[in-house]
Amino acid sequence: MDNCIFCKIVNGDIPCYKVYEDAEVLAFLDVSPVTKGHTLVIPKEHFDSLLYCPKDLLGKVMAVAQKIAQASITTLGAKGVNIVNNTNPIAGQTVMHFHVHVIPRYSDDDQLKLEFNKNLENLNLPVIAENLSKKI
Ligand code: AMP
Ligand code: ZN
Repeated sequence: MDNCIFCKIVNGDIPCYKVYEDAEVLAFLDVSPVTKGHTLVIPKEHFDSLLYCPKDLLGKVMAVAQKIAQASITTLGAKGVNIVNNTNPIAGQTVMHFHVHVIPRYSDDDQLKLEFNKNLENLNLPVIAENLSKKI
């Protein structure tokens, strides 16, 4: 895909600090890490977002994310990990090539804060669940 920065990394046109590579998946350090070892896992083939990634390949991407999460704990000394995917700009996606963030966590003082402000009231949960389940 022209003008995709992650495709350029896959093709070797832009350098990266490689963490893992196989025929279908590449993992490399995020250039602006949130914490030590912040890694991005991507399919080598271009898909704009998670929404378009075939499920077998999605499974391979997640399996690599799991391995990196484990290595973050055993080799970097992380105490936990956040696995994050942003889908579409409204959710914070800035690079439109599907990727999963593996973010090792070391202490409560890490700069990353994932907060769920559960302040939505009056949602019709049975109807929402039914609508979603009809489409899956
Ligand atoms: P997102 O906001 O979920 O789309 O995440 C995109 C991530 O890609 C950000 O965390 C960026 O720091 C990272 N990023 C952008 N360009 C590069 C690059 N050339 N090498 C490594 N990471 C990059
Ligand atoms: Zn791409």
